[in-house]
Amino acid sequence: MKNESLIQHFNTNDSIEYFEGIDLTHLSTMRLKASGDLAIVKTKQGLRELVAKLVDENRSYRLIGWGANQLLPRTSKDLYIKLDFEYEEESFTMDNSKTYFPASISIQKLISLALKNNIKGWELMTGIPASLGGAIFMNAGTKLGEISSLVESVEILKENGEIRIETIGVNSFSYRKNNFLKNGEIIIGATLKHVEHCEKVSNIIKEYLEYRKNSQPLRSKNCGCVFKNPENNSIGKIIDELGLKGMSSKNFKISEVHANFIEHIGNGDLEELHFFIEEIKAQVLDKIGLMIECEVQYSYN
Ligand SMILES: Cc1cc2nc3c(=O)[nH]c(=O)nc-3n(C[C@H](O)[C@H](O)[C@H](O)COP(=O)(O)OP(=O)(O)OC[C@H]3O[C@@H](n4cnc5c(N)ncnc54)[C@H](O)[C@@H]3O)c2cc1C
Repeated sequence: MKNESLIQHFNTNDSIEYFEGIDLTHLSTMRLKASGDLAIVKTKQGLRELVAKLVDENRSYRLIGWGANQLLPRTSKDLYIKLDFEYEEESFTMDNSKTYFPASISIQKLISLALKNNIKGWELMTGIPASLGGAIFMNAGTKLGEISSLVESVEILKENGEIRIETIGVNSFSYRKNNFLKNGEIIIGATLKHVEHCEKVSNIIKEYLEYRKNSQPLRSKNCGCVFKNPENNSIGKIIDELGLKGMSSKNFKISEVHANFIEHIGNGDLEELHFFIEEIKAQVLDKIGLMIECEVQYSYN
């Protein structure tokens, strides 16, 4: 069987840990009930081999970083791929004006580098729970800016095993999305700019972390902002003003702290959450005629 050959194939490969039919609930910050197959990949070569085999077997796959913006279905035919490339934090130096990082490095680690080295501009990533790959895919950002402004180039693995370098330009990103990744392509790393020191950076980071602590339900199971902001407006504010804060289904509720967050308060799954999201959309449309779109990534059918 195809799956058997995949697991046998990769059991002897040191750079890939392959799991079949396991509980994947812990893979996303929303902690929806989910199970399926997972490959944890530790090297570029391992990733190349895995993708070649998957293409050969006609098996679909999906990348997962911190799972902070993904809602996982109960079961999926896709193989989840999680990158776990090595990075030596000690090797970082401000001597150059740019540094290559693997896609699996966490934004938290980059913020700790920003704190140590007072890197001007990097404060805009403060508090975003993400891998670098996921943050670039989403063009993650805060009130301080978007990650797109820090990226010089992105290293990408194509489905055919070739590597291409995307040089970032003015049209490479839009609000919460990249415009350059094609289907099946994987971000394996990126070169970030760090042009200047600024003594104020550590204070800005500390203040912003404090602001997040007070304005987001950080202790709950959630996936960050669920809906995209309409132009020049805040969807959280709109949902709040419509009196929908606190609205709930069995296992989910609109956060009392931030109305664009849905908290997972029980033991729910994507099916229930999908219907809850659709209900919120319908209420906003009904009350003010505004069609809202999801920022969080999921497919449900
Ligand atoms: C408490 C909380 C607060 C948040 N605050 C913010 C915020 O302030 N600003 C903000 O922008 N977002 C925020 N988010 C959302 C989330 O942190 C971002 O969207 C982040 O970019 C997701 O990164 P990730 O590594 O978790 O990616 P995932 O959620 O795992 O994946 C997101 C998408 O990227 C794709 N992907 C991931 N890695 C790769 C790769 N290497 N190659 C190709 N595709 C890839 C996935 O397939 C998926 O489509 C928040 C989330 C939470 C839970």
